[in-house]
Amino acid sequence: MENRTLKKKCPIYRSFLKGQRVTMKEEVLWKNNGVALPCLYSSVPIIKNRTIQGSVISVVDISEQKRTQTSLDELSKRLELAQEAGEIGVFEWDLETDTIWWSKEQEKLYGLPEKSFQGTLNEFRQLVHPDDFKRLKQEAQICKRNHTDQESEFRVFFPDSTIHWLKVKARFYYNARGKATKLVGINYDITKRKALEETLQFKAESSRILNSSLEYEQTLSQVAKLAIRYIADWCSVTLVENGQLNLVAITHSDPDKVVWAKHLQQQNPPKLSDPTGVAKVIRTGKTEFYPLISEDIIRKTISDKKTLKILKKLQLTSIIIAPIKTKDKTIGAISFVSAESKRIYTQRDVEMAEQLASRASLAIENASLYKQVWQEQERLHNVVSNVPGVVWEAWGKPDDKHQRINYVSAYVETMLGYTVQDWLSSPNFWLKIVHPQDQTRAAQESANFFNSGTGGRSRFRWIKKDGSSIWVESQSQVIKDSSGKSVGLRGVTMDITSTMEVEQRKDEFISIASHELKTPITSIRVFTQILLAACEEKGTAKEKTYLLRMRSQIDKLTQLVSDLLDISKIEVGKLELRKETFQLGLLVTEVVENMQATTDSHKLVVKGSSIKKIHGDRDRIGQVLINFLSNAIKYSPNGKPIIISTHENKQTITVAVKDKGIGIKSKHLEHIFERFYRVFDATEKTFPGLGIGLFICKEIIQRHNGSIHVESKLHKGSTFSFTLPFD
Ligand code: ADP
Repeated sequence: MENRTLKKKCPIYRSFLKGQRVTMKEEVLWKNNGVALPCLYSSVPIIKNRTIQGSVISVVDISEQKRTQTSLDELSKRLELAQEAGEIGVFEWDLETDTIWWSKEQEKLYGLPEKSFQGTLNEFRQLVHPDDFKRLKQEAQICKRNHTDQESEFRVFFPDSTIHWLKVKARFYYNARGKATKLVGINYDITKRKALEETLQFKAESSRILNSSLEYEQTLSQVAKLAIRYIADWCSVTLVENGQLNLVAITHSDPDKVVWAKHLQQQNPPKLSDPTGVAKVIRTGKTEFYPLISEDIIRKTISDKKTLKILKKLQLTSIIIAPIKTKDKTIGAISFVSAESKRIYTQRDVEMAEQLASRASLAIENASLYKQVWQEQERLHNVVSNVPGVVWEAWGKPDDKHQRINYVSAYVETMLGYTVQDWLSSPNFWLKIVHPQDQTRAAQESANFFNSGTGGRSRFRWIKKDGSSIWVESQSQVIKDSSGKSVGLRGVTMDITSTMEVEQRKDEFISIASHELKTPITSIRVFTQILLAACEEKGTAKEKTYLLRMRSQIDKLTQLVSDLLDISKIEVGKLELRKETFQLGLLVTEVVENMQATTDSHKLVVKGSSIKKIHGDRDRIGQVLINFLSNAIKYSPNGKPIIISTHENKQTITVAVKDKGIGIKSKHLEHIFERFYRVFDATEKTFPGLGIGLFICKEIIQRHNGSIHVESKLHKGSTFSFTLPFD
């Protein structure tokens, strides 16, 4: 050892001189063959008779230790770098001394300046959200007991009072006796991930809310409330109503702030013409996004001192205003504002806001559609309940015992005494309460309406709950499925008792009058006949002409009276049929020949023939044909030929009379066989008549289990026909 070096550098030498016992902890460079080695020295003095005899000096080469230390230092530096880059904070909590050590990254994670953490549990408690601190403690207890690692998420308050989410991963260490001595772990920031999670959760929950109700103002304010739980400090929804901006919802976690904001809004109501903010978004239909609002920006854009003060108070950080758009216009806007939480919105948040706004617009549209439908329904309901008749709808065949009434208006109870429930719960209820005398006919008629698919009108009596009966007229329409098949009937049934009474009196009068007229007319006809016979011998040609005209008019009168009598008989169901079996073809030829003999104006052309026999009243069926022919002549003043055709089908025979006369408008066709129905048209020439001929024809044909038809086109002509079954 070089003395100079020892003297200068080695405290052992000094201690040796002083006779002290020294162990060098610090390293000393030992030069060995010119190579400096880091060594540890120790010196133990040899003292005899109180004098220092010498010293035992030991030198330990610690170059290996040194190398290890260096690489450890490097490792720790790298770890530190990694921690810094990964923003990972490290802590160690000595449970025995109850002191906590934090790395500088850890301090950063809590928003603290370097070396400011004093290492007490209390300090840590102050920084953590109280709800989470309790949970953290409980979770740590469990891990300590179970010797498991702890993994928890918790919120911390930064000195600027913003909230950040951290994740901790920690492990307990135990001594030989199994007692936990320390907790070592890492922390890292998960605020961004949490924000994303919260955004997703907010999206899911708000969608659920928006789909849950049709009261859109209520749902929108619920969404706004939800927003402040997850993604915003302020949330507001504004809708355009009658050209004005209406603040539907505004929320903040502090109710006082909401009151303050509302007050502010009332004092300074925003206008659609405002250059910025919600008004601009509504006008342009485009989202406004301000990711980071610094005081600087505010100061630069706002000059008004009052507004500046308010904005400063608001601590605005980040803003998204998304338009609520329907198909063709923007109806409002939803605003998310981050303020004291200092959350900075990203493009992802903008997408979320836009999606939410489009869901909100769907909800609003749905709600307004529903409102419209509801109002329409209400209006319809009011109309229906004020109709002095029963509106009904029934599924299935009307004569089928399973036919079910699925709607009947409340007026039914006033009309018949039975409740709506009585009607709905018993299948085929309408038929059950039809007067026994009308039941078969009513069932038959409504089955015809259903089967033919055309619907129709039917009159019958209903027995009321109190046992009395009323006359009703039921107008039915057929409900068809998409393939055109009849599936039900709907219609309205009116009480026509008083009309029927008047009609009955009228029928009685017609019946009596026609009876009374019949005898004098018959006498007049007989006397005319006698006069004609006398005139043949010695009367003048003029007298003969007058008498012939008189007879023709009497014939018309006779026909009229006989029609009226027929009507009375039909009304009381006493139209008698004298049935026989005969060849319809022959009857057609006979009737046509007779008719041709009475007219020169039209040519009657017979086409087709049949030798098939039918069973029926020959005169009555002849009467139908006469009626068809006289109408064809009467309603074709142009004198064009009239075609009478006969043709056989599988089991039926059809006779048709076709003219090329004035024709009939389609709207009249369904009524043409009704009693006293006549076509009146202001623009057309009106022909004399009573409108009873076709009614009688229909009755006669139906009594023969046949059917009667008409096809007609205005100004083109008409074809009246009947079809009867073979014998
Ligand atoms: P009317 O005695 O009035 O002719 P009908 O019952 O025979 O009574 O006919 C009813 C209505 O049908 C007539 O008023 C007429 O308007 C119309 N009509 C009947 N036949 C024809 C036809 N061949 N061409 C045009 N219209 C007709």
